[in-house]
Amino acid sequence: MNVRALVKNAVFDRIPGVLRKGPAIGKRVALTFDDGPDPMTPQLLELLDDLGVPATFFVCGNRAVEHPQLIREYVRRGHQVANHGFDHQRFSKLSRRALLEQMDQTERAIGGQVSGQAWVRPPHGSIDPLSMLTLRSAGYIIAMWSVDSMDHSEHDPAKLAETCGPANVGAGDVVLFHEGQTWTMEALPRIVAALHASGLECVTMHDLFAK
Ligand SMILES: [Zn+2]
Repeated sequence: MNVRALVKNAVFDRIPGVLRKGPAIGKRVALTFDDGPDPMTPQLLELLDDLGVPATFFVCGNRAVEHPQLIREYVRRGHQVANHGFDHQRFSKLSRRALLEQMDQTERAIGGQVSGQAWVRPPHGSIDPLSMLTLRSAGYIIAMWSVDSMDHSEHDPAKLAETCGPANVGAGDVVLFHEGQTWTMEALPRIVAALHASGLECVTMHDLFAK
């Protein structure tokens, strides 16, 4: 991690409502999947069912509009669905008004605050003070992550399993994955087995941070 990212994380970690890593007590972790839904979502949902783990899906509003049945399917299977903006634009590039419009459009597409709270993950993890304040004053919990699987650039399932293995993932961690990638799905059984072997339970972000 470079110095700029370290400083940015140190700042974020002190802002209430910006969540990166959950409490270590309880030995729980959250697996999170960004950028869906897409045609591979049903396969991923079957896999997660087989593995018996719930996850959190940060979905794009424009994709949710295209696949309303998949949004219902996430919820039906006990997963958390949350906002990832409408069309994956960097929030820092949007005006306050445009950002709020993106949030509303996406909430409408996902059935509005399905978890009972409004959660958002900024596309690219990119956020600036204005967009952060805008989201916080609109009541959003800003959900970052503490472990990046790097599955956007690393396509080897064995390497992904290593990155998300017990050496790097412990109690309270929030792991970032992306939807629509065969290598991520191929790595998941190994990742989940290793987490379970370490005594860790997979829960939604909502449950990980529940008081
Ligand atoms: Zn994304």
